[in-house]
Amino acid sequence: MRIRYFDHAATTPVRPEVLNSMLPFYGMEYGNPSSLYTIGRGSRRAVEEARDFVAKAIGSERNEIYFTSCGSESDNLIIKGIMLANRNKGKHMITSKIEHPAVLNSCKWLERNGFEVTYLNVDYNGKISIEELKKSIRRDTILISVMYANNEIGTIEPIAEIGKIAKENNIIFHTDAVQAMGNIKINVNELNIDALSMSGHKIYAPKGIGAAYIRSGIKFDNLIDGGHQERGKRAGTENVASIVGIGKAISLLNREMNGYNNHIQTLRDFYISEIERRIETAKLNGDRFDRLPGNANFSFKGVDAEQLLLYLDSYGICASAGSACTSGQSLPSHVLLAIGLKEEYIQGALRASFGMSNTIEDVKYLVDKIKIFVEKYKD
Ligand code: PLP
Repeated sequence: MRIRYFDHAATTPVRPEVLNSMLPFYGMEYGNPSSLYTIGRGSRRAVEEARDFVAKAIGSERNEIYFTSCGSESDNLIIKGIMLANRNKGKHMITSKIEHPAVLNSCKWLERNGFEVTYLNVDYNGKISIEELKKSIRRDTILISVMYANNEIGTIEPIAEIGKIAKENNIIFHTDAVQAMGNIKINVNELNIDALSMSGHKIYAPKGIGAAYIRSGIKFDNLIDGGHQERGKRAGTENVASIVGIGKAISLLNREMNGYNNHIQTLRDFYISEIERRIETAKLNGDRFDRLPGNANFSFKGVDAEQLLLYLDSYGICASAGSACTSGQSLPSHVLLAIGLKEEYIQGALRASFGMSNTIEDVKYLVDKIKIFVEKYKD
């Protein structure tokens, strides 16, 4: 059966160009980047070239990029690392209620360790309020951490405004850009972003590789002690092949950004208009305009989204009933709760996230199948 994959927000396949760039480092190019002989130097060069690609994509300096094992590690490193290293200045940070668990659970860890966290509300579209943010700032606020775009409902937060406020108040600004990277052009200087998290497997690179951007001059503690890798900030022999992979994926997407963007946005808009035209009970979750180009999250009133997923799966269609991290648990999504969605809508929420390999024909097939299921469910 042909697979029609609409779950790119959960993970993406590795692009052939990315895989090809990685293969030599599983073969003859096995040198340790810390070794001085030729094959070691070759690995070092490859790691540094990847660092350049990542830095260039977000407009940072190369020495502001640290490779990690995933987006979650980047979030942990930035949030815990910055709060711990700056605790002489204060103990307060601000985040939002709809962050990924990698951020929310790092905040919980901080609270267990004597720090204080303000969790900003979001409106019906999933946006934070700039007024509430301003009111939450304290003299001892060290960090603001607000995601670039939400993984479930796709809403893009007012990043430029948050960055401006953070800068005016001399507060460090971190954004979890795991979903936004590769989909939206990001420049950390224009947006006053001081720290940013990204992940390989959302951008056609492998799973188990991530990167953190941390503006130079910002103090942060490392979470993994050991050798001198990543300038002493993240010990452990580098995952050379995956670092090469994330570098390649980012450089390709950076080059193809407009075309890629247009492609997934066309599919998303077609999907949204078809669902709204054909299924009366469907309700779009998240901001209609400020949303990721490849994300559409609909609630089908009264429908059990897990049953819908299983039905779609029987036709080779992959989508998500929430974020990959919360599906499989029976708890309602904290994001859908935070936007004030009623139970009957929360249960029926289906996220479709579009990518490179999808076509309009695939989207038509998806809409047809959803329509059949929702109609049957009514009876
Ligand atoms: N942050 C966001 C917004 C995400 O969507 C995800 C993954 O779904 C992560 C962080 C975690 O990334 P990783 O799976 O690389 O740990």
